[in-house]
Amino acid sequence: MKCIVIGGGIIGLSSALYLKRSGWEVTVLEKGDFEDNCSYGNCGYICPSHFIPLATPGIVKQGLKWMWNATSPFYVQPRLDRNLIDWGLKFMRSATREHVDRAAAPLCEISILSQKEYEGWNREGLFFAYEHKGLIELFQTAPVAEHARHVVEKAHALGLTDTRLLSKEETEALEPGVRLDVLGSIFFACDAHCHPNTLMQNLRKMLMAEGVQLEPHQEVTGFEKGKGKIQTVLTNKGAFPTDAVVLATGSWSREVAKRLDLRLPLMPGRGYSLTLEDSPYKVNYPSILVEGRAAITPMDGNKIRFGGTMEITSHTTPPRMNRVEG
Ligand SMILES: Cc1cc2nc3c(=O)[nH]c(=O)nc-3n(C[C@H](O)[C@H](O)[C@H](O)COP(=O)(O)OP(=O)(O)OC[C@H]3O[C@@H](n4cnc5c(N)ncnc54)[C@H](O)[C@@H]3O)c2cc1C
Repeated sequence: MKCIVIGGGIIGLSSALYLKRSGWEVTVLEKGDFEDNCSYGNCGYICPSHFIPLATPGIVKQGLKWMWNATSPFYVQPRLDRNLIDWGLKFMRSATREHVDRAAAPLCEISILSQKEYEGWNREGLFFAYEHKGLIELFQTAPVAEHARHVVEKAHALGLTDTRLLSKEETEALEPGVRLDVLGSIFFACDAHCHPNTLMQNLRKMLMAEGVQLEPHQEVTGFEKGKGKIQTVLTNKGAFPTDAVVLATGSWSREVAKRLDLRLPLMPGRGYSLTLEDSPYKVNYPSILVEGRAAITPMDGNKIRFGGTMEITSHTTPPRMNRVEG
């Protein structure tokens, strides 16, 4: 049986691996060259601690204020777009305390499952600078310090019992090489991280060695359907007959799904990251600056990646350099 995976990010490549190992003949179609996508530039966190969804009651109020500031950590580019309005209404309807409570366990469990799978790949010999040493969430203000107490209680309730609230001094002891202007932090021992670029490159090599066909510069433009299923995937260069399709096109998924008359309520969310490849600074742990909504990951030896901000925008909007500076 043949399966076409559309999209060569982490979702497409890992789907391809599991399908191949379950006996499918797998081809991955990628519009780029497999060398660069969101799965390369992220912060590398594999984090059960991320059990709070983006849609919280607080973010809606904050987001409305931030909407007018293009350097703010969460920015929705205001524009008259039906998809944006539709998505925005759904986002606001989801931003309730009940939804946050309901989402916590599945979000936590999916990360624990991911970690187990990554650890399995690591044991198989796939190198991606995987480290399971924890993550620090740093806070600077009294309201966030108060919120942190609840987060720790919630983490314990979810089974992340080695999560600890640290004082300023305890936090400084973890990072003696960094001057910290904080009230304290949460230490999540459960969290892991990796070097995403190495992960993506070595995963591709592993797929090729296992016989998965990787097809670069194949942009999926349509589908031929028959007998109630997709028969052929059409690209800018040709046609690929198939028995099954996995759609793994990340933030482009709404547009691709539309070609199948499917409506996915998705909007592209853009973040920015920059990496010091040979850092003179010594940072021990991945950390998140809660108020600044920025992440800092020491990875793969002496690299440090700074990432963050969330910008709900369109694929055609050029990068906003003032957000990187902000
Ligand atoms: C700054 C930043 C930091 C982040 N940090 C983390 C983190 O620490 N931990 C974490 O878990 N997540 C993090 N994320 C999110 C994470 O990077 C993404 O969720 C993940 O990479 C999405 O993977 P994907 O495979 O779905 O999409 P992508 O990596 O975007 O891959 C989709 C692929 O589909 C291809 N494609 C699109 N349309 C077509 C088409 N028509 N035909 C063929 N190919 C097509 C694209 O070219 C692309 O290569 C971060 C994101 C950002 C921006």
